[in-house]
Amino acid sequence: MNRSGSCLCGAVKFTAIDVSSEVHACHCTMCRRWSGGPGLAVNVAGLEFQQDEQLRLFASSDWAQRGFCQQCGTNLFYLLTEPPQYMVWMGALDDQSGLTLSGEIFVDEKPPGYEFAGDHQRMTGEEFLASLG
Ligand SMILES: [Zn+2]
Ligand SMILES: [Zn+2]
Repeated sequence: MNRSGSCLCGAVKFTAIDVSSEVHACHCTMCRRWSGGPGLAVNVAGLEFQQDEQLRLFASSDWAQRGFCQQCGTNLFYLLTEPPQYMVWMGALDDQSGLTLSGEIFVDEKPPGYEFAGDHQRMTGEEFLASLG
């Protein structure tokens, strides 16, 4: 399924292509600092931008960039650069129906003060990185 999305101020507008229904939560220190909380993201095949003049990319590591609106500060996506793989922050999508939490990663970096309920996969950072092969 394709879904439209935008930032809070509406300056960045996009269509997310082939949105996965599986939401993954990342508790890593960088995602929590960037988001103000755990990152909730879905894999998409690509993004088509209708408006991107305010879109900026921040290289958060040697292998990934984080996209955000420089006008309102909305966190939009995580992009693995080689090969390109977009993970869109769930909250940036206009319609979030049908998207279900299906896994958590970097649970070893999660602060103790919150928990997500549900019976889904939970991986430490080490387990997650090993799963990428
Ligand atoms: Zn904006
Ligand atoms: Zn993370």
